[in-house]
Amino acid sequence: MMEFETKCLHAGYQPENGGARVLPITQSTTYAYDSTEEIGKLFDLEANGYFYTRLANPTTSAVEEKIAALENGVGALCTSSGQAATFYAVLNILESGDHLISSSYIYGGTYNLFAHTLKKMGIEVTFVDQDASVEELLQAAKPNTKAIFGETIANPAVKVLDLEKFSTVAKELAIPFIIDNTFATPYFCRPIEFGADIVIHSTTKYLDGHAVQTGGVIVDAGTFDWTNGKFPQLSEPDETYHGIVYTEKFGAAAYITKARVQLMRDLGATPSPQNSFLLNLGIETLSVRMDRHYQNAVTVAEFLEKQAAIEKVYYPGLKSDADYSLAQKYVPNGLCGVISVEFADGKETAAKWLDALGLVSLEVHVADIRTCALHPATSTHRQLTDEELRQAGISPGLVRLSCGIENVADILADLQQAFDKLEG
Ligand SMILES: *Cc1c(COP(=O)(O)O)cnc(C)c1O
Repeated sequence: MMEFETKCLHAGYQPENGGARVLPITQSTTYAYDSTEEIGKLFDLEANGYFYTRLANPTTSAVEEKIAALENGVGALCTSSGQAATFYAVLNILESGDHLISSSYIYGGTYNLFAHTLKKMGIEVTFVDQDASVEELLQAAKPNTKAIFGETIANPAVKVLDLEKFSTVAKELAIPFIIDNTFATPYFCRPIEFGADIVIHSTTKYLDGHAVQTGGVIVDAGTFDWTNGKFPQLSEPDETYHGIVYTEKFGAAAYITKARVQLMRDLGATPSPQNSFLLNLGIETLSVRMDRHYQNAVTVAEFLEKQAAIEKVYYPGLKSDADYSLAQKYVPNGLCGVISVEFADGKETAAKWLDALGLVSLEVHVADIRTCALHPATSTHRQLTDEELRQAGISPGLVRLSCGIENVADILADLQQAFDKLEG
């Protein structure tokens, strides 16, 4: 059993004698076979093997195996974006007429997916205050509730989710707990240890870390009992595969197998082998990068707390933060590099400060090695109404600062000169 840092480098790919030391890119859509019988078996899910890159590819498989190892899951499925991962994770078990409970502190794209697109598909989502009690959360449940969803560290509110509380609610309702672990990364938190059943990531963020590819992943803990009567999609025959029953045929890997052979087959948001290669390269250095992101973010958060122009700093690594104790429990060894700050004078001051930044670039991105900043109310979350913004923990003066791995003195100097310009 390898330690985490070692898995980042070695899980998922072992070179054969004389083989490529680095995971090779298998840039091929198809795979050749000697007989129709062999291909037929693959199509019937009676044999394992590659036959078409939409469903599986050796480069992507290696990365999937690595991420499953990092999260301690039984299997993983990579997708072409984080959005696709979230969509598939839900659609794999919910259908028209079903209901989902979600924390309201979630990524803007996830909010749009849940509140609008899923609604059009007949799936209803109730947004809850994640700080509510178990009893209050249970009140959001309906007979057709099929999953509960949240983010380990919410983007962009930088709030920490009480994972065990959500897991308790899920167990009470006999439904899976789906967690988006993008901001914490498996280096700092492995939600399966706290009762999560399905873990998803936007690999576009820290797992890649270099902002060179968009991707997503779904990891299956393999622990949920899909045969409890609520999930016929998994426990009843799939006619498109001659009536196989996923829970019978694939056991603990039923959920993740179905996501691949049914949803990926039909919807096709598959990553390119080239992107899987880049993602793997990023993951190799995940642990060293995250330590540095965390160190820099703590220093920057403490600096920001002292600024007159800033009303509030949201960073659960600060003792003054409302979620400090939750962070100590669930992410004790470090947090993401993302900090949210509230400007005292709201939108205009925030915009003036952002425009004055130099080294720190304005980007619709977050969680990579270069420090960047963003104003959610005018960008990622601009489709949300004021009320929706408030529910997601976003105000007009909120700025999201994503600390990179530069020397922190250079980051601080840039932030300071922008504050100086506010006074001019
Ligand atoms: C970015 C992000 C997503 C969406 O991922 P994409 O790769 O941009 O599609 C989902 N969840 C969180 C927490 C994110 O930060």
